Amino acid sequence: MILSAVTALAFASRAGILPGGLLGFVEYRPFLFAVLGVVLGGWFNRGRVVYAMLVLIICYWFFIGAPDFLPPEGVSFLKVATLYIIPVNLVLMAFMSERGVFRKRGVARLLFLALQFFALMLFATRPDVSEALNRLLEIRFIPLGGRADALPQMAVLLAVVAMVVLLARGRSLEFAFFCTLLPVFSVFLVDARYISFAYLGATGVILGGVVQEAWRMAFVDDLTGLSGRRALGHAMAELGGKYCIAMLDVDHFKKFNDSHGHDVGDMVLRKVARELAHCGGGGKAFRYGGEEFSILFAGRDRSKVLETLENLRKKIAGSKIALPESNREVGITVSIGLAERGADEDDPWVVLKEADEKLFAAKQAGRNRVTV
Ligand code: GH3
Ligand code: MG
Ligand code: MG
Repeated sequence: MILSAVTALAFASRAGILPGGLLGFVEYRPFLFAVLGVVLGGWFNRGRVVYAMLVLIICYWFFIGAPDFLPPEGVSFLKVATLYIIPVNLVLMAFMSERGVFRKRGVARLLFLALQFFALMLFATRPDVSEALNRLLEIRFIPLGGRADALPQMAVLLAVVAMVVLLARGRSLEFAFFCTLLPVFSVFLVDARYISFAYLGATGVILGGVVQEAWRMAFVDDLTGLSGRRALGHAMAELGGKYCIAMLDVDHFKKFNDSHGHDVGDMVLRKVARELAHCGGGGKAFRYGGEEFSILFAGRDRSKVLETLENLRKKIAGSKIALPESNREVGITVSIGLAERGADEDDPWVVLKEADEKLFAAKQAGRNRVTV
C-alpha cells in the first residue's frame, strides 16, 4: 500500500500535477521516515530495523548530499555502489537473529556498517580508485538498449538473488526488506530524478513492517499463531444480534505435561490450535490462555454450532500425536462448553462465562464431550 501510494505520488509529479513545493518536501521525507524507523527500532529494541534504516538513509544521502565535497568520479561511484550495498546488507540482516540495538552484538553490527561506509567514502575521495571501481560495478554483459541499460547487470542479478532469498525467509520484516528493493532499483528504469520517491517508498515499507510486527506482537499468540486474548476482547466488543460462544479446554493437560514434558505439551497446543483455526461453521478461534481456547460464532444458531463442535471434538479425539523421543503415539481429548446469547443479554462476557460454566459441567460429566 505504501509502495503504491509513493508510486502514485511519483507519477503525479512526473505529469506535473504535483506542485513544485511538494517535490521539495518529498525530498526530505526519507530522512524523516528513517529517523522515525531508527527511533521506533531503538524503542522496540529491533536492531535489524535500525540497521536497515541506516543503510537506506546513508545510501540516500549519497544521492542528494554527498556531491558537495567529492570529485564527480567519487559521486558516481557512491551512487552505483548503493545498488550493491543495499541488497547485500538486507540479506545479511535477514540471516541474523534479532540481537537488540545496544547489546554487544548490536553495536558490533553497527560498527561493521560504519566500516563499510568509511571505506566507501575513502574510495570516493580518490578519483582514480573510484573510476576503476566504477568500471567494475557498472559492468554490463549484454547490451539491452534504452532504459534497461540504466541498471548495471551484475547489481540486478544480485538484487534478484536477494529478493528470492528474502521472500523464501518469508517473515514480516524480511518481506518488508524484499519490498524495499523494488523501488530502489526500478526508479532507474523510470527516471533517476525520482530517487526521493524511491527512498520514501523503501523507508516507508520498513516502517510498515515495524508497525505490522508490533501489531502481531499485540494481537497474535506466539505459540499457536491464533489470535490472543487482546484480539478476543476486540472481537467480543463487535458481537451483537445472534451469536454463540464456545470455551474449549484440553483434558488432563497437566498430567500430559508432567509425563511427556512441556515441549510435547506445546506441540499439542499447536496441533489443537490448527484444528480450531479450521473448525468451520463460521467459528473464529482465540487462545484464551494456557490450554483454554474460545470460539466465537457470530450470527449462528446453537444447533448448527453444536454440530461443528461435535465434529471438532471427534477429530481431535481421533488424531494421534507422535512422541518425539519414542516411536509411541498418544491421543488427547478436549471438553467444550457452548452458550448462546439470551434474548435480553447485552454483555458477551456474560455469555462467555456461561460457556465456561458449561465447560466445567463437561469436565464433571467425564470430559471429552460438548455441553450446552
Ligand atoms: P482438566 O482436564 O480438568 O482441564 O485438567 P488439566 O490438567 O488440563 O487442567 P489444569 O488447569 O489443572 O492444568 C492446565 C495445565 O496447562 C497446567 C499448565 O502446566 C499447562 N499449561 C498452561 N499453559 C501452557 C503452555 O503454554 N504450554 C504447556 N506445555 N503447558 C501449559
Ligand atoms: Mg484449564
Ligand atoms: Mg485442561
